Amino acid sequence: MIGVRGALLLAALLLISPLHGQDFPLELRALPAARPANLVERDQGEEPAPALAELVVPFSLLGRFVLPGTRMVLDLPVSGGGSDASTPVTVIHGARPGPVLCLAAGIHGDEINGVEIVRRVVNLLQAEQIAGTVVAVPVVNLSGFQRGTRYLPDRRDLNRYFPGSRYGSMASRIAHVFFDGVARHCDALIDFHTGSFDRSNLPQVRADLRLPAVLELARGLGATVVLHSPGSKGMLRLAATAAGIPALTFEVGAPARLQVSEIEVAVVAINGLLHHLGMIQGSTGDEVTQPIFYDSQWVRANAAGLLIGEVELGQRVQKGQRLGRVIDPIRNTERAIVSPVFGRVLGMAQNQQVLPGFAAFHLGEETSERHAVEEAVADTPESADEDGGRNGVETSARSEPDEDFE
Ligand SMILES: [Zn+2]
Repeated sequence: MIGVRGALLLAALLLISPLHGQDFPLELRALPAARPANLVERDQGEEPAPALAELVVPFSLLGRFVLPGTRMVLDLPVSGGGSDASTPVTVIHGARPGPVLCLAAGIHGDEINGVEIVRRVVNLLQAEQIAGTVVAVPVVNLSGFQRGTRYLPDRRDLNRYFPGSRYGSMASRIAHVFFDGVARHCDALIDFHTGSFDRSNLPQVRADLRLPAVLELARGLGATVVLHSPGSKGMLRLAATAAGIPALTFEVGAPARLQVSEIEVAVVAINGLLHHLGMIQGSTGDEVTQPIFYDSQWVRANAAGLLIGEVELGQRVQKGQRLGRVIDPIRNTERAIVSPVFGRVLGMAQNQQVLPGFAAFHLGEETSERHAVEEAVADTPESADEDGGRNGVETSARSEPDEDFE
């Protein structure tokens, strides 16, 4: 056994050496990757297979082969053809068979919490101890990350262009390179984001709960807030589920901030998922925790002015409670924004100048998994209704279904 491990390590060292470009013939392309037949069926008390390193084939990605029980950093070209810029893809290929879990972050270049979450998760894993494969891309939108902006240099939002196209816009080309080169090889995918446009989100999962495999993936994340969201066209998670890969968005905190306590919450949740999928073993799997499902809606400003919040993320609020004020500094007046429900603040805008209709507070009403799924199935894009204003105070309007502020 040690001989096999030693040989594998030696081979791995040869492979990762920068002087060896893996130019020897390796006719392994025809071999199928070691994957479970169906991710959904894996969690019913099924123990991972015993260590049989010799049965796991090398993992093929981006034209390279990663040997079982080893880790390799690959280059993904993400300039859209304009330069040689590439972003790292870390592959941790376990010595035992299991699913391929992909972790993506930094699709919006200013959403840096996810970048650090992926780095921490990857650094905690040891290839010789995991079952299956983790593929981690901490900075998908490299140019956006380097410039500290959500967008690509062509001012497009990368997360509206998946699965992309080889001959499309720059955004479409980069989306294609990532989707074809990485995402298509995953059995499940988690995409990390934060709130957008100066909004902050309590750590939460956005998922299309109408899809059983996506719901099952969300269940694996332990005591995480889960919201149904069908998403918008071109989002990575939509393109992935359309290709048969269960995927969800994990929202953590606010853009352009590095929030260590929120980052840790997500790292714990991903470790829980790795346990749930049978990819790692250890003590954290003993604690069985369930996700918490919410029906949610955005409460909007009904006037232009300066928004000042009076609640905190995660706070529970009463129906009719004042959430904040919109101040008109020209007339020196102010109007209250009140909660239309008894619920919890799942997301909120930072204090800033706003226009009428600005989504200010994202409120959730706790519900059961069953009810959340029933609501998701019943939900149609046109069904969002408007709540009118009452008594001269600001009140809510149901959020439009495509506004996720991810
Ligand atoms: Zn985002």
